[in-house]
Parts: sequence; C-alpha cells; structure tokens
Amino acid sequence: MPTVTTTPFTSVYGPVQSWRFGRSLGIDPIGATPTCSFNCVYCQLGEIQHQSCSRQVFIPTQTIQHDLQTFRVCDVNTITLSGSGEPTLAQNLGEILGMAKQITRKQVGVLTNGSLLSDRAVREELALADWVSVKVDAISDGSFRRINHPITTLNLQTLWAGLLQFRQIYSGHLAIQTMLLTDWSGQDQTEYIRRMQALMPDEIQLNTPTRPRPLTHQLEARGNYIPADRPYPTQPLQRVKAEVLEAFGDRITSAIGLPVRYPLLKQDEHHEPSDEPLS
Ligand code: SF4
Repeated sequence: MPTVTTTPFTSVYGPVQSWRFGRSLGIDPIGATPTCSFNCVYCQLGEIQHQSCSRQVFIPTQTIQHDLQTFRVCDVNTITLSGSGEPTLAQNLGEILGMAKQITRKQVGVLTNGSLLSDRAVREELALADWVSVKVDAISDGSFRRINHPITTLNLQTLWAGLLQFRQIYSGHLAIQTMLLTDWSGQDQTEYIRRMQALMPDEIQLNTPTRPRPLTHQLEARGNYIPADRPYPTQPLQRVKAEVLEAFGDRITSAIGLPVRYPLLKQDEHHEPSDEPLS
C-alpha cells in the first residue's frame, strides 16, 4: 500500500491533548516509516510497514535533542515517547529518556507494547522513565494474535514474564492500557483480573477505538488532529459502549482495588478524545 505522508517528519511533535496524561509533547524515536513488533488491528498509523523485534538507533539522540530545544515546554504536563511505532525498539531509549528529563525538567513517560521486556537492557532503560504505560489487550495467545498481530517469534507467555520482571525493578508509575473491541466474557475478565493481581500496576486504563483506522500511513496520526474531511481512506473499527468499559472497570476495582480510568467517549469524530495513538 503506498505511503501518503503530507507532513515532513520531525522527531518531536505536539503538544497532544491526552485523556490520560494531559498536555503532552511527543517524542518519536522511530522515524517516518512505521516500525513495530505488532500490527494491531486498530493502529492509528495504518498498516505497520516494518515489523521487527530488532533494536537499532533510528533517530540519533542529538537530532531529537535539537528538535526538542525548539519547543516551549513550560505549558506541557508531560513528555511522551511514542510516535511511529514501538519506542523500545530504539536502542538509544535510555539516552533519549535521560536527555529529555535533563532538558525539559518534566515527567517523561513511555507508551509501549511491552514486547521487548524480556530483554534485560530494555527493562533497565525503560526503568528510567517517570511513568510507563504497557499495552495488554489479550489474555490468550489466540486473541493476542487476532488483535495485535505480533511478529511470529513473539508469544504472550514471554511477554508476560518480561512484564512481571519489569514490575520487580520499576519504581515509577506503571499503567496497563487495554483496548476493548468487544465485550469480554466473564471468564476472560476473571483471568485478566488474576493477572493484574499478580502484577499490581498503579492503574489500569480501559479504552476502545475512538477513530477509524487510516488505511494508508499518516504522520499526523501521531497527534490528535483529525481533519474534518480526511483526505485518505479509513476503516471503521469495532468498539464497545462506555457502560461496558465501566462495568469491567468496576469489577476490577472491587476485586483487587486498582484504580481504572477511561476515555471520555464522545460521538463527534472530529473532536474525539483521542490521544497519542500508539502502543
Ligand atoms: S498500536 Fe502501537 S503496538 Fe499496535 S501496531 Fe500500532 S504502534 Fe504497534
């Protein structure tokens, strides 16, 4: 599928208004080609063009530092590493986190799909973040493959083991973000709660797709600007009602006491409460 990109690439973008984090300035350590270990059915980047689990330096830290210094950060609440794919694939993740904290003096966080957490170096670098939000959309390998379309070498068991190991060393704020496309069965909810009890994150974020998926890559999809007349084709996505998210959230909180947050589900697609689209 051809890439339709109308905006020149910059490694820093926004600020983006996030339902989870307030006003957030985005850092994209991946670059103009969407690169991820997953290819989620709802990904706002469109089809992932490069699926990989191999770490490399995509954008030199100095380039990101230069781009960051051109932004005013006094009116942002946080800095978020996300962008055009899975940020932990960036081999300079730790360096970027250290640099961004030093330059901005703001909280710096990472949105990740957690797929590289079995790698000790990734866990140690990620632990430098003030907050980390890890995607957990599935509790069985079947639904993991159906929703996240991971690279074939990944499996849910290894991902979970890495996440539990990360929890043991991480002292920052750990959130689990879960995207619901359909109402989960009671059995799946019970298994999810059991896993969250073992992990004990600081919070859970339950979400459902609020925007159609672009069928071609749009760099603007890193932020939350939705043009009224999208000049590109999109695919509608399954979503659940707010009541479904809230009922699941209530069950989680009453079972294990964890706080649960939700997006504000509005119908006006041009003013959706969308946020950073990724990971
Ligand atoms: S939503 Fe995130 S994890 Fe899923 S394919 Fe897109 S960038 Fe990767």
